[in-house]
Amino acid sequence: MKPSHIEHLGIAVKSLEESIPYYENLLGTKCYNVEEVKDQRVKTAFFLIGETKIELLESTDPEGPIGKFLEKKGEGIHHIAFAVENATEALAEAEAQGIALIDKVSRKGAEGMNIGFLHPKSTHGVLIEFCNK
Ligand code: ZN
Repeated sequence: MKPSHIEHLGIAVKSLEESIPYYENLLGTKCYNVEEVKDQRVKTAFFLIGETKIELLESTDPEGPIGKFLEKKGEGIHHIAFAVENATEALAEAEAQGIALIDKVSRKGAEGMNIGFLHPKSTHGVLIEFCNK
């Protein structure tokens, strides 16, 4: 399944309160959505740059995935998300090629997207997400 474009880049931050004004200033555009994703134990903030979004991720739980990432690596790029027609089908195709998955089927992410992750041990150390509307 060929991705149509990079849907978003996820960046782990310690504080949305500090990083939202910073990115608004850097990018010259307003954050258009802040949303908590309980399932992922994060609060997200979105900026639109052309077709691609920047997703800032603040942890709401030190034991959650972003909490652990910040603890280990500090702030920085967390994942890259490719837009595909159907995330569940894209995950199944990846698995058929021997790529390890975090999610076998897609689940609900921020902005009502269906999302699923490949395992970074199979992707040269990059956490890759497939997503569709
Ligand atoms: Zn994402």
